[in-house]
Amino acid sequence: MKGLGVSPGIGIGKAFIIESETINIEKIYISDTSSEVERLRSAINICKYEIDKLYLKTLHEIGEKEAMIFKSHEMMLEDESFILEIESKILNDNVNAEYALKETTTAYIELFENIKDDYLRERADDLKDIMNRVLRELLGIHPTDFSKMEINSVIIAKELTPSDTAQLDRNKVVAMITEFGGNNSHAAIMARIMGIPTVLGIKGILNEIKSNDLIICDGKTGIIIINPGNDDKKYYKQKKEEEDLFKNELKKLIGLPTVTKDGYKIELSSNIGTPEDMSLVLENDSEGIGLFRSEFIFMNRESEPTEDEQLEQYKGILKQMSNKPVIIRTLDIGGDKEVPYLDMPKEDNPFLGYRAIRLCLGNECLFKTQLRAILRSSVYGNVKIMFPMISTLKELRDAKKILEEAKQELRNENIEFKEDIELGIMIEIPSAAIISDLLAKEVDFFSIGTNDLIQYTMAVDRMNSKLAHLYSQYHPAMLRLIKSIIKNGHDAGIWVGMCGEAAGDPILIPLLIGMGLDELSMNSSSILYARGVIRNLDKQELEQIAENALQLEAAIDVENYLSNLFVNKNN
Ligand code: PEP
Ligand code: MG
Repeated sequence: MKGLGVSPGIGIGKAFIIESETINIEKIYISDTSSEVERLRSAINICKYEIDKLYLKTLHEIGEKEAMIFKSHEMMLEDESFILEIESKILNDNVNAEYALKETTTAYIELFENIKDDYLRERADDLKDIMNRVLRELLGIHPTDFSKMEINSVIIAKELTPSDTAQLDRNKVVAMITEFGGNNSHAAIMARIMGIPTVLGIKGILNEIKSNDLIICDGKTGIIIINPGNDDKKYYKQKKEEEDLFKNELKKLIGLPTVTKDGYKIELSSNIGTPEDMSLVLENDSEGIGLFRSEFIFMNRESEPTEDEQLEQYKGILKQMSNKPVIIRTLDIGGDKEVPYLDMPKEDNPFLGYRAIRLCLGNECLFKTQLRAILRSSVYGNVKIMFPMISTLKELRDAKKILEEAKQELRNENIEFKEDIELGIMIEIPSAAIISDLLAKEVDFFSIGTNDLIQYTMAVDRMNSKLAHLYSQYHPAMLRLIKSIIKNGHDAGIWVGMCGEAAGDPILIPLLIGMGLDELSMNSSSILYARGVIRNLDKQELEQIAENALQLEAAIDVENYLSNLFVNKNN
């Protein structure tokens, strides 16, 4: 079978299936209603027991505030009048427990949702949570138990969300395969950051694979083989050995500077999502962290991390990087990155919606807490702050105002931080690229976010694999934008980097350096290869190459031109 290879490498292991949870409720007429009431009571008791376990675990591992949410869920399930209401629906209408539960709870949810009180509106979400938990119990749908995962597991799922990927145990997962998903989804990006071979878009995969089937997954070609024969096993084991050998060869570049043959220095940094990504950063001799997607430390929890908790995470990374630059991007939630406890409204176009800096400017407390934590971490290393999704000068100024307030609070509290901490912004929205001359006067650096810049420039949803042919970093519009962002940044005396996935594209790197880019931030596994490519280049030649590429009329022409140059240089 063949899908879309989004994270290269060969993974061989046993299938571990992640069931998707779709809850479909039908109305069924029941004659034995008292047994149905019994079934409801028993499901509620099991849920209470599970919630209590979660309460204790959270209390011990995280804290009392976070644990309280489970206490309140438990109390709702102990509300006799609520339960009696569901029971009387079963008894009076002769319907199944699932239907009675859904009907009764939905009426309350709607009631709470229409109340103009934040606290009561949030209770609607709690009720939804509880209803789904009891429904799953009644229907026998059990969430995947990740603790059962063994080493050398190949994850098989309908779809992976960014938060699913973030909570996988990377010591056990050797590959991932899904039915849906595109190359630029955050699940795919995280897979590359974690260095896990991944293939997306294999239709019907869940019907073809059973738990524990032996799977071969080639994350480069997109080929997967279920229960392979001896010949396939031999071929792919050998291919994997060759890959490992190549990786070992690249290790010779550890410790060498990233400079072109004529002495032009480029900084090669890593993109990370969680502190667990640090081992690959160090292993691959990365020169900094060019993008820490800090939103990932807000995922897979019941409430937002406190200032102290965030400080601990940032401090840990800074200490490991021992004074090398670490750019922490402030929260970029929204789009395909959901954080349920932040209660974000469902939107028709989440990528065009309330996300990133827009959400932070609307949640000053959340934003300021993060800024305070980053500022406080600045005494432990070379940290820089970066705002995502800036589209106007006003947004930047509003965000800077909150940063200034956070600094002033710390001064008042006599808490130490680095006063001249560098501040940068991502240039990932066409409006920001177009006014980059104005924005450049207000910050210390730019980092070009091609993942979003391509999607917004080309009007192509980055998650839509049907439109992948239009989503291209080689499009002349992209080259012109990148060139003008670099020029505007340099004219204002600031440095310009790139942290979108295009920064790790070895074919594009010569053009980016030719245009004068100062820093490239990519998945750690691509760092040494990129260093090898760069050490083989001549900056002066690259300026001409960039000029030539800018004359071409179509993405395919640019891609062919750069690919041919790459092949000639590297053979
Ligand atoms: C980008 O848009 O290029 C980027 C690096 O940010 P993200 O992929 O997290 O949206
Ligand atoms: Mg982005």
